[in-house]
Amino acid sequence: MRYISTRGKAPVLSFEQAMLTGLARDGGLYLPETIPTLDADAIRAMRGATYEDVAFTVMKPFIGDTFTDAEFREIIACAYAGFGHDARAPMVQLGPNHFLLELFHGPTLAFKDFAMQMIGQMFQKALSRSGERVTIVGATSGDTGSAAIEAFRGLDAVDVFILFPNGRVSDVQRRQMTTPSEANVHALAVEGDFDTCQAAVKDMFNDFDFRDGVRLAGVNSINFARVLAQVVYYFTSAVSLGAPDRTVSFTVPTGNFGDIFAGYIAKQMGLPIETLVIATNQNDILHRTLETGAYTTEGVKPSISPSMDIQVSSNFERALFYAYEQDGAAVAAEMDSLKATGEFKVSQGAYEALKSTYASGRVSEAQTSAMITRAQAEMGELLCPHSAVGVHVAEAHLGATPMVTLATAHPAKFPAAVEAASGHHPALPPRMADLFDKPERMTELPGDVEAIKAVIRERIGA
Ligand SMILES: *Cc1c(COP(=O)(O)O)cnc(C)c1O
Repeated sequence: MRYISTRGKAPVLSFEQAMLTGLARDGGLYLPETIPTLDADAIRAMRGATYEDVAFTVMKPFIGDTFTDAEFREIIACAYAGFGHDARAPMVQLGPNHFLLELFHGPTLAFKDFAMQMIGQMFQKALSRSGERVTIVGATSGDTGSAAIEAFRGLDAVDVFILFPNGRVSDVQRRQMTTPSEANVHALAVEGDFDTCQAAVKDMFNDFDFRDGVRLAGVNSINFARVLAQVVYYFTSAVSLGAPDRTVSFTVPTGNFGDIFAGYIAKQMGLPIETLVIATNQNDILHRTLETGAYTTEGVKPSISPSMDIQVSSNFERALFYAYEQDGAAVAAEMDSLKATGEFKVSQGAYEALKSTYASGRVSEAQTSAMITRAQAEMGELLCPHSAVGVHVAEAHLGATPMVTLATAHPAKFPAAVEAASGHHPALPPRMADLFDKPERMTELPGDVEAIKAVIRERIGA
């Protein structure tokens, strides 16, 4: 299996190389040259199988010979062993033909664990084989950083540095980053906002002396290996509702478009998905694009579903690549326009292709809170604000086809917004009840990239 860039000009890579590289050198994102398919019998055979077995069947065709079957099974087993639910991604019913897929039973209580745990194990296996060591640096507004630290803590081929805006993440999110005691974990509390952190990381990737000197690697959601791990739960949930002999739709709370794009891959692999519904909060660039065909950036408005407060949705470039029938030059031209003018207009053909796969909806702050209140009162479900955005949009798309809404985080990760709306304080699961008793360890730094680089160099002795 070979991996190509959405902009058509970067070297073609193996799965292992694409996973360890992240961003392509032409600025594009890596995708498999062809999407492997599973026939109806193969999908039917997933009935009653464990999450881990389905994960193996779905992901194996994408990884080529990067890992042997035995190695890959072991990677999957390690990745999901720390989840707090045997089904890994259990489903509950919200109403007639409406189901909630709970993706928050991982170690940091958000769906990011599904991919990050896999990537941690895959990096470790690949690097221990080559004897290499890498430095992972990431910026986070909360969930990605805690999932990355949890996935990479204690692995000996990796140092992980997470930059987060000092004072601007929730207490639960911060403690998940600052309480792991392993020496390879470095939580950096940076003076400034998320953009300050993100800009510092970009600067490090563009400083080739630094990048090569510390062997920098990235694990943000443009890494295809992360998207791949998320394809699996589309299969497990659809199969439990009768696929491949029954069609299913999904509604996905969306920010960077990674999670919902995994649903597109599942559909191309042969899973009978009718519609993929994009659910956005008030930062609604994707909804507006679906409505008008114009992708026009506006300022980010902070919301109570902060993991979706996104202005430039990186993985949408992958959806465009398929909408433009895999024409990398056309995608590159749109991205150049975005950079120069802050917008681009999707061509008529590409727009129709997008509309045939995706639907969309936008949810205001007041609607999000009202949905949390109503879900608690009428459905007996305490939703996190992101999941509430999803359920609200899904309700407008219910019909004869079963609808699965992805619950992307546990309500206890966003206790203030949940309590304000529902009157219930969401408790942490018992397995992490001691989070607030553990000592914290973090390094406070100014929002100055040279100071941050100096600390990273010093810590790894480069
Ligand atoms: C990251 C995140 C999202 C958005 O996922 P994308 O893949 O960026 O679209 C939604 N909800 C929660 C809780 C998240 O952490």
